[in-house]
Amino acid sequence: MRHKDELFTLALQHDPYIEGLEEFIVHPKDINDLIVGYKWLDLGLIQDCGTEGDGVYTVASSYEACVKVLVESSDLQLDMAAMNLIWETFVPSKIHVFGWRALRNRLPSREQLAARGIITEESDMVCVFCFNDIESLNHLFVGCCEARNVWQKIASWLGIEVGNADDVVEHMFYFEESIKGLVSKRKRLLVWLAAVWALWWMRNEIIFNEQEYHEDEVVHKTISLAWLWNMIGVKSDTVSNFYLWSYCPVQFLNG
Ligand SMILES: [Zn+2]
Repeated sequence: MRHKDELFTLALQHDPYIEGLEEFIVHPKDINDLIVGYKWLDLGLIQDCGTEGDGVYTVASSYEACVKVLVESSDLQLDMAAMNLIWETFVPSKIHVFGWRALRNRLPSREQLAARGIITEESDMVCVFCFNDIESLNHLFVGCCEARNVWQKIASWLGIEVGNADDVVEHMFYFEESIKGLVSKRKRLLVWLAAVWALWWMRNEIIFNEQEYHEDEVVHKTISLAWLWNMIGVKSDTVSNFYLWSYCPVQFLNG
């Protein structure tokens, strides 16, 4: 295994914790990371369609850029549906990009690092949550027994039932279907994205900061992040009450 600092540099998502919740501008590098997954796409295609007049990449302009690429491709209706759900969710733009990369298997999982020859030892490819399987994104986020325990607690907290899935996209649709009758459309995937983000954060803490896995820490991170994201742009005083959010979250997801 290479030195962990080198791997850290190679990883595309070093520190997933959000510092600036008010940030709604997508960094051009994120857009390149977002788009580069499409092997048929010449990056030059988005040079003129991902920016607005001042050359800044915004959620709207980057969304339009991605849609323009996707509608020109075939058999991508599922991707389009998934992308729309992600983009419609009221979270910081950085999370839109993260969610999209999670769905497209474009985060630097150990499986991905092995495929690129960055890690070669089989022991370095194993999931750091359960140590029982190769760490693919599908395994890490939804297939791992530890991840499933997290999802079970999140579902219980929300008062919904979410079926198990071995595929991230499939799980996202299960979750959306389970909660869509309870919350507003733009909040349906807010908690789902927070949980996936928290799982990735925990994974990075274990690998790069030598922390131990703590299921409750992932759940608490999910609840905290979702609470913060849900407050963005909401003026109601009640939504800022973390105690109420912790016990009755769904009533605050209708804004
Ligand atoms: Zn695992």
